[in-house]
Amino acid sequence: MGKNIDKIWDDTLNIIKKELKEYTFSTWLLPTKASSLKENILYIDVPNPFFADWISEHFLDRLEEISTDLFNIDIKIKLLPISENTDTFIKYIPEIVDSKPENISVFLQRYTFDSFVVGNSNQFAYAGSTAVAENPGKTYNPLFIYGGVGLGKTHLAQAIGNYILLKNTKYKVYYTPAEKFMNDLVTAFQTNTTIALKKRYRQYHILILDDIQFLSGKERLQEEVFHTFNALYNSHRQLVLTSDKPPREIRNLEERLVSRFQSGLIVDIQPPDLVTRIAILKNKIEKENLFIPEDVLFFIAENITSNIRELESSIIKLLAFASLTKAKIDLKTAEIALKPLLNIKKVHIISFDEILNFVINETKINKNLLLSQSRIENISITRQIIMYLSRKLTNLSLKEIAINLNRKDHTTVISGIKKIELLIMNDEDFKNKINTYLSGLGYE
Ligand code: ADP
Ligand code: MG
Repeated sequence: MGKNIDKIWDDTLNIIKKELKEYTFSTWLLPTKASSLKENILYIDVPNPFFADWISEHFLDRLEEISTDLFNIDIKIKLLPISENTDTFIKYIPEIVDSKPENISVFLQRYTFDSFVVGNSNQFAYAGSTAVAENPGKTYNPLFIYGGVGLGKTHLAQAIGNYILLKNTKYKVYYTPAEKFMNDLVTAFQTNTTIALKKRYRQYHILILDDIQFLSGKERLQEEVFHTFNALYNSHRQLVLTSDKPPREIRNLEERLVSRFQSGLIVDIQPPDLVTRIAILKNKIEKENLFIPEDVLFFIAENITSNIRELESSIIKLLAFASLTKAKIDLKTAEIALKPLLNIKKVHIISFDEILNFVINETKINKNLLLSQSRIENISITRQIIMYLSRKLTNLSLKEIAINLNRKDHTTVISGIKKIELLIMNDEDFKNKINTYLSGLGYE
């Protein structure tokens, strides 16, 4: 029987595997195992509660559907976390490797590929980084990662270092912010140890220079980076560079450096979209065993849009505020606690019905059709616009919006809002239309 269950679970996974990104599959479903089948309930072991939540939210319906087909009976799946400890999710990474002092480079344990949430905004950077980590010095050299503040450049750069060291402790991997490189150089000049310093840098198999926009206008530093770069590059050592802008846009950077920096793979990280922001928040609270209700997470994700560091610190602020004031962690508390961080522009309280009637008046679409299950393009989009407006202009939770619109659950609302956000981003006419709706509803 046991073997049988394993086989069916394997077959189920093989089917869903084809429907998912490889990364998604290997992260979430590969670590699962069939445990038993009682009545029509299939029990599946998962590493920890975080997995259980994630899988049930994203894949459960489909998994039940597939296994029902395979078993020929109506299967329900129950996920059993084998550990309460969410740390099992993060692989152990040595903090400091190699005993020789000159090789010591401190990598933060939490900056790994596993703890990096991949979304549309960063998948290119993630793919480039993992490729380099798999084959340092061989695929893309240099790897140049650029993007705005707090979007994960340092995280990815250190993840490359962590990964390489995990696989091969013989490599000398060195991470340094460009500013520290300069301070080391200045000290070396003063103590007549420049030659030793240069020699040290040229031993590294992987050199990660973080925030190289710092080189701007610093000629002596640029000179040194240029020679170090060439020495390492010519002996097929891997260089990883990060910056807040692409090479060409860094002001006062010598042309020869610009062209070297451009000669490998350049990847950018954009601000995360809503779905990725939610995933990052979930990742964070689950990892730290915190509990924050879904609608509060959504509220944060929706209002803090540009910077992942702020996204993370908003959780800490909210928890601190709630525990100091002994308040319940809900939307109201979140609004008060995070007010200084948020850009909330709710001008007056508006009801769902006001939005619904306003949109009906604008589009002349029949109310019954909007509340029906019809999937006609025009009706779906209008319904999604109502979701978007309700979320922006009312205090309704996702669930409440779903109920008001006769939808099955809040995930429909999340994907609806996402769709509208994408349209706003990519279609100027659509954006204008939404803006006129917003101002028609009294929102500036
Ligand atoms: P940058 O170097 O681009 O300014 P960091 O790498 O320091 O940004 O990231 C800021 C914070 O956000 C860090 O705590 C980092 O772990 C977190 N972070 C950034 N991107 C992600 C992501 N995709 N998934 C999870 N955490 C992330
Ligand atoms: Mg950084």
